[in-house]
Amino acid sequence: MTSVRENIAQIEQKIGGKAKLIAVTKTKPIPLLQEAYDADCRDFGENRVQEMAEKQPQLPADIRWHQIGHLQTNKVKYIAPFVALIHSVDSLSLLKEINKQAAKHGRVIDCLLQVFIAEEDTKFGLSPDEARVLVQSQELEALTNVRVVGLMGLATSTDNETQVQQEFRGLKQLYDELALVKRANVTFSELSMGMSGDYELAIAEGSTMVRVGSAIFGSRL
Ligand SMILES: *Cc1c(COP(=O)(O)O)cnc(C)c1O
Repeated sequence: MTSVRENIAQIEQKIGGKAKLIAVTKTKPIPLLQEAYDADCRDFGENRVQEMAEKQPQLPADIRWHQIGHLQTNKVKYIAPFVALIHSVDSLSLLKEINKQAAKHGRVIDCLLQVFIAEEDTKFGLSPDEARVLVQSQELEALTNVRVVGLMGLATSTDNETQVQQEFRGLKQLYDELALVKRANVTFSELSMGMSGDYELAIAEGSTMVRVGSAIFGSRL
């Protein structure tokens, strides 16, 4: 068994400075998160609000917490005080709630729009057209406590590398298109794509953030 530190070093070597590593810590206990922290990881991703809110106060304050899983409107308030980036925004109503909760804490919360790119119907996200409409909507422009900084997507879970590559490539094209939109609170700089099984493919297609869990911490049961 390799250690968390060794796994992180190996992955960082493969990333080669081209993308930021988000250590996906869902279901993992605090001591393992501390090991990742001690190996210089500062970006942690969780998919459940309650779990993130429980772990956050138990760990150093300079960790940037990333919400990567589906976010229900009524749960935004639990992470609004500290969350660094919400990767999984899939509606205007969710953005409105994030804006409201961010304002309560005097914050501007960075968000990514999750776009559906996989050939699976279990995954959340906007269609490319829905993302286009949302990014250019006047309603979004009025939300001064959120900033849309890019896109996130999950490729199909398959051994077919060509398919995964095409899905990532499509998301990058949409990213490049929407990056041209001029809005005060739309400033594209992040493309979150790639997980343990496909982060190298994602980086080759232009990912700036990879979300890696099992390759660091071992499989989740
Ligand atoms: C769990 C999860 C990951 C990490 O998955 P691994 O295959 O363990 O690397 C990445 N992104 C999202 C949205 C997840 O829910």
